[in-house]
Amino acid sequence: MRKSRVTLLVLIVALSVLTAMIAFINALVVAQIVQRDQLIARSLEANGAYAAKLAETVDLYVESIQRQLEVSASRIPAMLDSRAALDAEAARVARQSDGVVAAFIADSANRIIAFESLAPELTEKPAMLNRGEIDRREVAGHVSAAYLSAKGFPTVLFSEPIRDAKGQYLGLVGAAMFLRRDNELDRLINVHFHHDGSYVYVVDSHGKILVHRDKARIGTSESGNVVVDAVGRGEAGSMSVTNTRGKRFFAGYAPMRSGNWGVVVQTPEEVTLEPQQDLLWRSLLYSIPAAVLALLLIYVLARWISLPLSRLARAMQLRGDEAGAALRSVSPWYFEARQLREAVDATLAQHQRQITELNTENLTDPMTRLLNRRGVEGEVARLRSARQPFAVLALDIDHFKRVNDTFGHAAGDKVLIMLGDLMRASIRAGDSPCRVGGEEFLVLMPAGDEGIARRVAERIRATVESTEMPEGVGYITISIGVARWPEDDEDTDGVMKRADQALYGAKNAGRNRVVVYPC
Ligand code: GH3
Ligand code: MG
Ligand code: MG
Repeated sequence: MRKSRVTLLVLIVALSVLTAMIAFINALVVAQIVQRDQLIARSLEANGAYAAKLAETVDLYVESIQRQLEVSASRIPAMLDSRAALDAEAARVARQSDGVVAAFIADSANRIIAFESLAPELTEKPAMLNRGEIDRREVAGHVSAAYLSAKGFPTVLFSEPIRDAKGQYLGLVGAAMFLRRDNELDRLINVHFHHDGSYVYVVDSHGKILVHRDKARIGTSESGNVVVDAVGRGEAGSMSVTNTRGKRFFAGYAPMRSGNWGVVVQTPEEVTLEPQQDLLWRSLLYSIPAAVLALLLIYVLARWISLPLSRLARAMQLRGDEAGAALRSVSPWYFEARQLREAVDATLAQHQRQITELNTENLTDPMTRLLNRRGVEGEVARLRSARQPFAVLALDIDHFKRVNDTFGHAAGDKVLIMLGDLMRASIRAGDSPCRVGGEEFLVLMPAGDEGIARRVAERIRATVESTEMPEGVGYITISIGVARWPEDDEDTDGVMKRADQALYGAKNAGRNRVVVYPC
């Protein structure tokens, strides 16, 4: 598996950025939801109010037509004898109101006795009132539902009964409006409100459309549409509706006094919610400075938290003393990092102690506590790399075999230990006494010139000779060979060989003496 290089800094930054992003997105979503609710509520309220206002306006218009018909109905009884006067009255009524395209006067037998049309599509005078008109002929201020005229035009009819002074029914004066032609109703309703995709329509008591910006839909039935049904029941208000094509609208509606008509104002959902896009972009834009600042802050804080740990980690990759020093130079500012540093520091110190102990054991002869051969090698390497001249004293006990043979091996060991002590006592602090074999010893003396080395060797030899050995062994003697480094070689092996040669020379010369190379 590949080792991950993700650092604590990266982790803290990633975690903080993730948290900040979740919080930010959450705030954004909540703001969008709240704004959406507000926009919908405002759209519903505005459309409800606008529908009520339009209903009032259209009512006033319809009532003005009705009043004109009332005036006409009161004038007609005096004209009944004159065909010309009736025709003139029909022509006056047809022209009086904006939007009215035809007017007629009927007698009590439902015959049309005067007729005027301003519409080129309707020129022929009808003979009789139609069935619907007959049914409602005596209703004052009658406003019909939308119906298709004999020629197939969606039409609305306003009518007023004509009565004599005693209240006897004499006939009917009526005015017709063709809904698909430009008319006053259409102008009142559709003059405003198209720019943003909202639109208005008016329905009659049966749910048929009387006014719509799409002329083709005039005269079609919207019965079943919840809003149209509600306004048909005389209710005012607002609600959200989905049309048959799945498009959602926010609709306001208001009933009218005239003919149980109703006005519906509706705004498409996307138009209502359009400002949300803007809010989203602006929120994102305005958040940039804070986001940059937050990122910077996160980075600085994350570095502040991770720095002590990464410095501790780096310190622990160093060796021995360097690690200890690097570790102590870190001063963590928070508890866990401080604890970690102390724990690592303690562990490191313990390791150091153990290593020192192991090294000492490794380099020491257990019996005499002098340096062993490995210890000698280390010491020689150290002197050599420091280019420190030194002398080597090679010591060997004379006839030691006899000591063993006579007093036993254990007594021999005691003699070796005693010799080690004597050597230690006879040299200076910087000199290193060593045991390199059974009863073979060395002394390494830094900076020893020949005279000093010889004197020290002589002192050791004399001390041994004059010291009584334990276990009744009595007195022993030693031979010493002395050599120095550097001679004419760089190699330190040479100095050991030369010291051995000198020692050999001392043995050959009769033992119990010091010989300095060259001998
Ligand atoms: P010389 O050096 O004077 O020529 O004679 P020597 O009898 O000392 O001869 P050599 O150095 O060859 O003998 C070494 C003897 O040292 C042989 C062995 O019994 C003894 N010896 C070596 N290591 C130890 C040890 O650790 N303990 C004891 N007690 N004796 C040892
Ligand atoms: Mg020997
Ligand atoms: Mg010997």
